[in-house]
Amino acid sequence: MELRTIFVLTGLALFVFILSGCSGHSESGKRNKPLVIATTTIIADIAQEIAGDRVEVYGIMPIGGDPHVYQPVPGDARMIVRSDLVLLNGLQLEGWLTDLVRHAGGTRPMIEVTEGITPLVDEDRRGEPDPHAWSDVRNMHYYVENIVRGLLKIDPEGEAYYTGRADEYKLKLDELDAWVREQIETLPDERRILVTSHDAFRYFGEAYNVRVMALQGISTEAQPQTKDVVQLVQTLQKYDIPAVFIETSVNPKMLEQIARDAGARIAGELFSDSLGHPDHEGGTYLGMVRHNVRTFVDAMKIESMTGK
Ligand SMILES: [Zn+2]
Repeated sequence: MELRTIFVLTGLALFVFILSGCSGHSESGKRNKPLVIATTTIIADIAQEIAGDRVEVYGIMPIGGDPHVYQPVPGDARMIVRSDLVLLNGLQLEGWLTDLVRHAGGTRPMIEVTEGITPLVDEDRRGEPDPHAWSDVRNMHYYVENIVRGLLKIDPEGEAYYTGRADEYKLKLDELDAWVREQIETLPDERRILVTSHDAFRYFGEAYNVRVMALQGISTEAQPQTKDVVQLVQTLQKYDIPAVFIETSVNPKMLEQIARDAGARIAGELFSDSLGHPDHEGGTYLGMVRHNVRTFVDAMKIESMTGK
């Protein structure tokens, strides 16, 4: 054997040794903490805020992923097998989760973080519940309460810790809710119209007195029909809507075309069903709402000042 080959092989063996040593070490370290699975990036963020360092939180959805049409990967199943608790949004958002959990076997608490919320329903879709409850900041009190309930099932000794962190987070939610109201109030009524790719902001619209319109309904599963496209172009023109917004988790192509046809502009990108990257303002739930509201208000304010 050549000397060089021996060096390479020794190096490789050392590398594998270090790698297995490292992962073995961290796995045994993590095993002491309960593992909590959160389906969406938004739920994972809030669960982490409440759970702090007492549990390990694993989010299934990747950043920018679309939870309506997510296709689980084998790694998801492995994490669910290891998990002690699963937090899901519910309201029919995660249709793909049922099989995943069934195949994982075992029993673990499943907590729907929207429990207690009266859902908006979509009359166009046989009265299905609208899952996007998170777009109304006040609803997040339910998310927080349900997450605490789940954590107490697997770690009752952490009660004071969890409720303390939950109370702090709820104060931040209340501040954010008040800020959103102030921001929206700076817009004249005729500019409080939010047009997006899919209908993810109906709770937002109800809560903050904004009219919402979208190309697609409350799910991205069905492709928009030609009549939907034509209708939206006509609506944009009829109400002289100057700006529309794409979403980070939805393909923007169709809405971009509609904006061109209607003479409107794409005024920015909103976080609807997924957080942004951790180094972006939209990397947390609180930051995502701030980003969305600022993007919307800035665009509509400028448009109304130029008198379009
Ligand atoms: Zn959605």
